[in-house]
Amino acid sequence: MKSIYLDNAATTAVCAEASDAALHAMTSVYGNPSSTHRFGREAKALLDTSRESVASALGCRSEELVFTSCGTESDNWAIRGAAHANRHVGKHIISSMAEHDAVRKTLDQLEKDGWEVTRLKPDKSGAIPVDSVADALRADTALVTLMMVNNETGGVTDIAAISKIIKATKSRALLHTDAVQAFLKLPFSAKSLGADLISISGHKIHAPKGIGALYIRSGLHLPSLLYGGEQENARRAGTESLPLIAAFGAAAAIGKAEMEKSIRHMADLKVLLIEKLCAALPQILVIDSGAPHIVSLSLPGYKSEVMMNYLEAKEIYVSKSSACKKGKRSHVLEAMGLPERQIDGTLRIGLSRCTTAEDITALVQALSQAANELLPALR
Ligand code: PLP
Repeated sequence: MKSIYLDNAATTAVCAEASDAALHAMTSVYGNPSSTHRFGREAKALLDTSRESVASALGCRSEELVFTSCGTESDNWAIRGAAHANRHVGKHIISSMAEHDAVRKTLDQLEKDGWEVTRLKPDKSGAIPVDSVADALRADTALVTLMMVNNETGGVTDIAAISKIIKATKSRALLHTDAVQAFLKLPFSAKSLGADLISISGHKIHAPKGIGALYIRSGLHLPSLLYGGEQENARRAGTESLPLIAAFGAAAAIGKAEMEKSIRHMADLKVLLIEKLCAALPQILVIDSGAPHIVSLSLPGYKSEVMMNYLEAKEIYVSKSSACKKGKRSHVLEAMGLPERQIDGTLRIGLSRCTTAEDITALVQALSQAANELLPALR
């Protein structure tokens, strides 16, 4: 039986170009980019071209992009760094109740250090209404940190509009966005967004796990999170992971070249999935959201875990909410005020450019069979 992988919001398969680039870096370009001899210079050249590739996909200058170990590190660094850099403005931060744990838990720590955090409520797509950000802005707001695409629902927050509001109101708040789920899934550039800080991660765009990047708007000085060597222009210490960086560069180049086509492909499959599901299972609830690659659906009464096991027996892989919640109930769906029965029956389908219409048909068939064969929980 062919495996059908539909958990691409959790992670994606590494593309051949990325794994080739990693292997090449490990076996041929293994010098330390900080060494001055030929091996070092070759490694530095690969580091530079990889950075150019990711920066070009993000629409920023190479000097504005620092490689990190993952999206989580980028989020931690952006938030802690921005709070410190802008502490003279005040100790108030605006965020939301729907953020990824990498943001939520960093903010929890800042609260323990005396910061006040306003956590805005998401709308029915999981996005944060722009007006609520405008209402929450205060003279002492030092940072606004909001994700661009919600990883559980695909809800899209209009970061460009929020940036305009921050500027129009002459607020001194810095703007960070966790764009881990938005990078190469929505057509945006760092410049068009107007954010000061943008987090991205390699493994959501067909690069390996363990590599991320942080866009730092030129002119913004962010204190380092890691102290040590002078790598990454003395902004992030630690010998650069060149194999992962090279793979990120290769994946970003393909992702950029194919972005329009992939977005259209995923958006078409999303429409197909929703149409087929609604025809086959009239009781299904689907969250209407703007990202092309995430569909959050629920069969109220049927427990997510039971459905996931049923699908896995048919070699179909989906998730409950976010992979890193490890089975805990979704704080995003709770914040959206959804009823318990809907939350407990939620499945997240994550599409990628590799997903096919046949995969969608197989999923709909399997879900219909599950609804017929399994008994809904009585509650
Ligand atoms: N932010 C969002 C929205 C995510 O979806 C994820 C990963 O699932 C992260 C941050 C964390 O990224 P990483 O797994 O690279 O640490």
